[in-house]
Amino acid sequence: MTNTAHSPEPLSHLSVLVSGASVAGPALALWLARYGARVTVVEKAPALRGGGFAVDFRGHVHRTVLERMGIWDEVRRHQTHMGRQTVVDADDKEKVDLPAFLMSGDVEIFRGDLARIMYERTKDRVAYVFGDSVASLREDPDGVEVTFERGAPRRFDLVVGADGLHSRTRRLVFGEESHHLRHLGYYAAGFDMPNVLGLHRSSRICSVPGRMVDISNYDGSAEQGGAFLLFRSEQLAYDRHDVAAQKAILAEKFADLPWKHTRHVLAALEDADELYFDAIAQIHIDRLSQGRVVLLGDAGYGATMGGMGTGTALVCAYVLAGELAAARGDHATAFAAYEAEVRDYAKGCQKLAGNAGPFLAPPTERKIRSRDRAYRMLSSRFLAGFFKRLTEKAANAIELKEYPVGKEAPGYAGPMEPVPSRKRQA
Ligand SMILES: Cc1cc2nc3c(=O)[nH]c(=O)nc-3n(C[C@H](O)[C@H](O)[C@H](O)COP(=O)(O)OP(=O)(O)OC[C@H]3O[C@@H](n4cnc5c(N)ncnc54)[C@H](O)[C@@H]3O)c2cc1C
Repeated sequence: MTNTAHSPEPLSHLSVLVSGASVAGPALALWLARYGARVTVVEKAPALRGGGFAVDFRGHVHRTVLERMGIWDEVRRHQTHMGRQTVVDADDKEKVDLPAFLMSGDVEIFRGDLARIMYERTKDRVAYVFGDSVASLREDPDGVEVTFERGAPRRFDLVVGADGLHSRTRRLVFGEESHHLRHLGYYAAGFDMPNVLGLHRSSRICSVPGRMVDISNYDGSAEQGGAFLLFRSEQLAYDRHDVAAQKAILAEKFADLPWKHTRHVLAALEDADELYFDAIAQIHIDRLSQGRVVLLGDAGYGATMGGMGTGTALVCAYVLAGELAAARGDHATAFAAYEAEVRDYAKGCQKLAGNAGPFLAPPTERKIRSRDRAYRMLSSRFLAGFFKRLTEKAANAIELKEYPVGKEAPGYAGPMEPVPSRKRQA
């Protein structure tokens, strides 16, 4: 690897457009700005999106990257401190308690809080444009001509698609979503609801064949709670921007769920201002870059719940920026190296998540019983340790390279420590 450690700004000649300001986008922006690149992040939402579900980090690789980003302590200050999650039957009878260490990783934080932390660290050095989106991309030998839905056209040296599972960048450059999105047979939904069960950093989960309802309180407040729903289904045709249509689908799917608390969930659904609704799906694509355009995070290797997509996005942002810095902006070299470094790693995390739907909402009563048995076993310290090692094995299955030290920036944690060499485990 080229050692450019003596040059603090190896990318000062480079302009980069990043599409998407959730997890992957701001993480990459943080690194690129540190290496001196001029970075613009365009986000289609009118402002930084708050809320969302809780995401977790596991193992030493996630932690090392968070430390190098300089945000480990702040992430810990915002951690959810979620407690036990109790599985009940349709009569609300408790079946098994899932201890926190099983479900919430080493550190758990709301996706929106994480995005906010990274945004605050970068907003003075990165140009964030909210309420706009890439409309077209045309590459020539010297750069990429980008038109936007609202703003004036601009040229960039490189474009990064960090715009999630339904990435427009991917569609524009790599072809239709249907070629890359693998539906895993379930849909998930999440929204706020009053804390009607008086939960305290805990949740109550009821599964019946093919469906699951989870009522939770994450923040310890007496008032605020959340609902998370999962149901088994073939791919549905609906307008992803039509919230009323999505609410109607959910109301119909859950209307006859026999758990007594379902009525609270359905009432909250009706009142919900914000609704998360999407398929449980993964992205499988045979290459992550084409010319000057590259995919990062869910856009390139979305794993869905259980696949540690957030940690993967942060690790891969570190690698992508580091390879660009090491190659002093030679994107062909850097993108090839990025892909070689992260492909197997991301695939390993996707593998873990492939069975998330059937595990959370098994399709038959018999499978619910065996899932509950598995939960009981996993709740024992011994098997929980095994489960922890299994997930950490995937999370740790990359040897982090040392990249050039970037220019000091707010939140910069100081020069990088050499990483102890660890063998790849996957
Ligand atoms: C139900 C569920 C539960 C999950 N639970 C966990 C978990 O417990 N732990 C974990 O690690 N991961 C979890 N994940 C995965 C995790 O949410 C993602 O892997 C992670 O958010 C990836 O971040 P990202 O930035 O790549 O994509 P996203 O978070 O999807 O962000 C994409 C961003 O791009 C923006 N955007 C979209 N289109 C455009 C456009 N055309 N122009 C500009 N901007 C655009 C979006 O508004 C958004 O801000 C879960 C996922 C799901 C679906």
